[in-house]
Amino acid sequence: MNNFVMEPERRLEIKEKYDAVVVGGGIAGISAAIAAARGGAKTLLIEREFSLGGLATLGLVTIYLPLCDGKGRQVSFGIAEELFRLSIKYGAEANYPEIWLSDHTVEERAKGQRFEVRYDANVFAILCEQRLKEEGVDILYGTSVCSCDVKNGRINALIVENKSGRYAIEAGAVVDATGDADICAFSGEETALYAPKNILAAWYYAVEGGTNKLHMHGFAEGSNEDVKLLSQRRFGGIDGNEISEMVQMAHNEILTEFLKKGGVSEEHSLSSIAGIPQLRMTRRLAGSCEMTTEKEGESIGTSVGVISNWKKRGPVYEVPFECLYGKKVKNLITAGRCISVSDEMWDISRVIPCCAVTGEAAGTAAAMTDDFSALEVKSLQSRLSAAGVKLHI
Ligand SMILES: Cc1cc2nc3c(=O)[nH]c(=O)nc-3n(C[C@H](O)[C@H](O)[C@H](O)COP(=O)(O)OP(=O)(O)OC[C@H]3O[C@@H](n4cnc5c(N)ncnc54)[C@H](O)[C@@H]3O)c2cc1C
Repeated sequence: MNNFVMEPERRLEIKEKYDAVVVGGGIAGISAAIAAARGGAKTLLIEREFSLGGLATLGLVTIYLPLCDGKGRQVSFGIAEELFRLSIKYGAEANYPEIWLSDHTVEERAKGQRFEVRYDANVFAILCEQRLKEEGVDILYGTSVCSCDVKNGRINALIVENKSGRYAIEAGAVVDATGDADICAFSGEETALYAPKNILAAWYYAVEGGTNKLHMHGFAEGSNEDVKLLSQRRFGGIDGNEISEMVQMAHNEILTEFLKKGGVSEEHSLSSIAGIPQLRMTRRLAGSCEMTTEKEGESIGTSVGVISNWKKRGPVYEVPFECLYGKKVKNLITAGRCISVSDEMWDISRVIPCCAVTGEAAGTAAAMTDDFSALEVKSLQSRLSAAGVKLHI
């Protein structure tokens, strides 16, 4: 018996054509799409689910980690700050950053809460959708990019599947904001896997005594010494069967944990479980440059933004443009949790504010070129500076 089938060759209709196509509507994709549209590109954002935000909304990760260095100074600006403010336009769920949104000295801020907040996932998702529409971005929901047509080292078209079937979308520049470097893998770009693999996470919301509470069940490893693993099993995150098993394990964990506080009533209900798998680091671009923690505090000539370390106060890093694009596919750039980084830096750069910083850089570049390694970085930097991004520490 053969263990394969031959898919019949077929002609796919090219239904649309865009200057910039952003794949993935998480924080990185939202930021990239806004920046590309502001740069004048006819922009499409393709998202597999039916809402924006990715892990930051559907994944119930509702803590916008710090825009500051932990020593009282803001380091991430531009769209990272714009989305932060948007997330709490109608109020914060918790940890309102009073000290940052009113007049205070660096010393006062250094001693107080970092520039972070907890927001309402659903309100934020809808506000992001509205912001993209205001910027003129087309959104295509319920659509997975499942393959790429690559010619002469460029993605000519993205092959998508949705309710209409399978068809092609022609793209000038492509931003891989899938979180898992799907487009890098589909187009033959070099990628790397996260060897330690992911622990089981099972974050959920439950109404308890009239209050809707976030339960961070399965907290990040290394962030707190008391973290107890929910399972000894680890997950790579790019195998369909494995992800399905992981999600079912998380569901069982959530129900068991929820029921410890009693059955369902008006005062006690399981209000939200994640709609997408809670995976932190899976597959990333293996670019010609890797961002590393060794460059902490260093000035980088090709910097496209500054990020901080959510785990500890002090360290800040400039993001080199070269860690966003690869060696093989000229018109492909990455953003968010799948950029080219070392393992240690991955755990720092994967969080919401950093995804917004790399998203803005990738989207701005996508409006300027369809050959990223040939782009003059100085002109990209001028555009980013004009948009309010801080490039150097
Ligand atoms: C359990 C957990 C807790 C975390 N806690 C925090 C926290 O407290 N604060 C914080 O700042 N960060 C936290 N993070 C990290 C952070 O949430 C994410 O790393 C960040 O939001 C990733 O953004 P992204 O846009 O790069 O990717 P994602 O949010 O993963 O978005 C990718 C999007 O692309 C879509 N997509 C994927 N593949 C395709 C495809 N082939 N075609 C079409 N669409 C596709 C997905 O549906 C998704 O919407 C946590 C992560 C986890 C898992």
